[in-house]
Amino acid sequence: MDKNSKIYVAGHRGLVGSAIFRALEKQGFTNIVTRTSDLVDLRDYQQTADFFAQEKPEYVFLAAAKVGGIQANNTFRAEFLYDNMMIQNNVIHQAHINDVKKLLFLGSSCIYPKMAPQPLKEDSLLTGTLEPTNEPYAIAKIAGIKMCDAYRSQYNSNFISAMPTNMYGPNDNYDLNNSHVLPALLRKFHEAKEQNLPEVTVWGTGTPLREFLHSDDLAEACIFLMENYNDFGHVNVGIGEDLSIKDLALLVKKIVGYEGNLVWDTSKPDGTPRKLMDVTKINNLGWKAKIGLEEGIRDVYEKKFKN
Ligand code: GDP
Repeated sequence: MDKNSKIYVAGHRGLVGSAIFRALEKQGFTNIVTRTSDLVDLRDYQQTADFFAQEKPEYVFLAAAKVGGIQANNTFRAEFLYDNMMIQNNVIHQAHINDVKKLLFLGSSCIYPKMAPQPLKEDSLLTGTLEPTNEPYAIAKIAGIKMCDAYRSQYNSNFISAMPTNMYGPNDNYDLNNSHVLPALLRKFHEAKEQNLPEVTVWGTGTPLREFLHSDDLAEACIFLMENYNDFGHVNVGIGEDLSIKDLALLVKKIVGYEGNLVWDTSKPDGTPRKLMDVTKINNLGWKAKIGLEEGIRDVYEKKFKN
């Protein structure tokens, strides 16, 4: 990519897309194209086709998706499958029709089988049954990886995919029903502290293990892959370390400075027992995450709740 290449960031207001947009600006890229979903609904074939024909982007970061935490994935199962399949089918196909030089598709660590060996290596894809709570989302993301590879094999398109672990950062969703665990815990502990509540309720048993990557790290990784990776097969992006939900809750409690108790609501699902990424592939390509978890959570907490 040249500094004046025309770059389309799809999903630029979301957690990941907004981080890619900031990182591109910081690195001096000057010709970034965006559209909100009110202007171009990427689920709509014609709107997507018209947008690509008009703008003719040279590079595409595909960070537009319907996303959410364990409960949202499990509740809106039809929408998670339909919306994500429509968005990625339209964008990837239009990137092909309009001769986009390179496209990066973003997925998630939930593409791996529930019982795959840990840490999760790229070649564990499609070796077993998926975690049921987010199977529709995972199926869509697996289709996206295979679509990039199919267009590479049939048309020689330079389409690649990156699979980040659980993400956090600015512009996250803090809705207590639909968000992921980290924003939910930040909000719950913050509000409990402000209101002097005696306890905070955390979902599940606290035993599942999760890995968390700051969106600024992911954005750097995406630009790195756009500039350095041109091959079949997806690339994992993570920090290579995980912790239990219980330890995460204790860390957030400490950062917020809340003194009350934790209560576990075991009527809520735990989801997959563990999903730690093997990041050997991206490390060997020459990229490594920089932001530690405690530092990253402090940064997000300050920006969101301390202004
Ligand atoms: P997942 O990684 O796809 O399972 O998505 P989440 O980030 O939503 O959940 C991760 C884990 O955190 C699961 O085991 C949840 O049960 C647990 N968890 C604990 N408290 C909460 C909460 O308040 N919200 C969410 N979303 N998850 C929570």
